[in-house]
Amino acid sequence: MSIDADTKLFCLLGHPISKSLSPIIHNYSFEENEVNARYVAFDVDKNALKYAVNGIKALNIQGFNVTIPHKVDIIKLLDEIDEEANLLGAVNTVKNVNGKLTGFNTDGRGFIQALQNNNIDIKDKNITIIGAGGAARAITMTMAKDGARSIQVANRTVEKAKKIAYEISSKFQNVVTSWTDIQNINTVDMDIVVNCTSVGMYPDAESFIIDPCIFNKNALICDIVYKPTLTKFLNVAKQSGYRIMGGIDMLIYQAILSEQIWLDKKINSKLFTEKKKDIFNIL
Ligand code: NAP
Repeated sequence: MSIDADTKLFCLLGHPISKSLSPIIHNYSFEENEVNARYVAFDVDKNALKYAVNGIKALNIQGFNVTIPHKVDIIKLLDEIDEEANLLGAVNTVKNVNGKLTGFNTDGRGFIQALQNNNIDIKDKNITIIGAGGAARAITMTMAKDGARSIQVANRTVEKAKKIAYEISSKFQNVVTSWTDIQNINTVDMDIVVNCTSVGMYPDAESFIIDPCIFNKNALICDIVYKPTLTKFLNVAKQSGYRIMGGIDMLIYQAILSEQIWLDKKINSKLFTEKKKDIFNIL
């Protein structure tokens, strides 16, 4: 598809962004869905965020994503945020309508959609989340909202796990919550286990947070780290016969949800699942 005077521009603001896969995902999607648009990544540090946002308004760029370290700081630069972004206290997607900026968060919903694409419904499931950073918070809150039965949050810094567990139980009384350090994790009767720490991420690809094989054999083992696409955590689980889901799935779905917000139209996600191996060089 060629660039012309009607081509829309969408972008990512983050720091660092050199390893981001978002331009690959969005440009592939625009091409396949015949949307006359392009997506680029801008390396913007904390001090430059407000200037970048002013520039986006001046150029009438109709939507953008924000990633580390801007997901919370962006909120004060927006006119409003939607219900889910408010629940998560963070924004990863912004829509610009004639200079009015609205914030959304598609991270948690992207993970849930990736599960649904693997025919897994979150309702009444027992879940272990390892990690208590921004991504863990987005995923746990969305799972609680969608009717998980129980959520155990395990983290190196136990206070952070406790904070998330408290927040879930204050907002969703029906969900049984618990917190722990990683060594004392409860491994019994888990339906879904998700590594939400950055352990195992390139270039430290040989490390893994915990042996996934301590969980019951019918648990689905997930990792939201997407570089490498098959992390050590997932590979160990796979070798032992567990079902697994990698971080690329969440990355794809959070991107598709962003596009649907910007473009007000349904985006075909089947294209990704069919060609995922080719797009991301998955072995
Ligand atoms: P974050 O807010 O910085 O949180 C990092 C988490 O990792 C914390 O729980 C931290 O524990 C834990 N951690 C880091 N190093 C550790 C170590 N050596 N041992 C034990 N725990 C360790 O980061 P985030 O935004 O939540 O992102 C986490 C990971 O998810 C990153 O790799 C990111 O690339 C990935 N991610 C993927 C997607 C996707 O679409 N697939 C989306 C968002 C994020 P402490 O609290 O104890 O420090």
